[in-house]
Amino acid sequence: MEISNRKVVSIHYTLTNTDGDVLDTSRNGEPLAYLHGAGNIIPGLENALAGKRAGDRLNVSVAPDEGYGTHDPAMVQRVPRAAFQGIDTIEPGMQFHAETAEGLQTVTVVEVDDETVVVDGNHPMAGQILNFDVEIAAVREASAEELDHGHVHGAGGHHH
Ligand code: ZN
Repeated sequence: MEISNRKVVSIHYTLTNTDGDVLDTSRNGEPLAYLHGAGNIIPGLENALAGKRAGDRLNVSVAPDEGYGTHDPAMVQRVPRAAFQGIDTIEPGMQFHAETAEGLQTVTVVEVDDETVVVDGNHPMAGQILNFDVEIAAVREASAEELDHGHVHGAGGHHH
């Protein structure tokens, strides 16, 4: 069965950046299951998988505009340390939810000193070229309920 819209696809993948650092992998767990054509995964990866079959392996290099977007410097902000009342330790890499004009946003701490915390509201993988080593584990038809919800149920997907 070929991968096309409305198919449920299970993949094993390892994601590396251009330095060869592993950012994410499914290899130590169950494969990731997604509904093809529903925007469950980044466009660059979804497009590369179209027409492939179970057992196929491929390497996909995804540019930021087909991945998590470019890095927007305007989303890096300096916040007074006092805004983090009740939090004793703040370190680079920590993530917080912040209320912004565009709704609830996840920000990552990039720099801290006694007075100021610098936070970045970009996706942690924004601006990066992402290299996926993908093996397609399975392809099946989606159920009516999965199509209705826009995501996969069961192994590797949503449980609810
Ligand atoms: Zn559901």
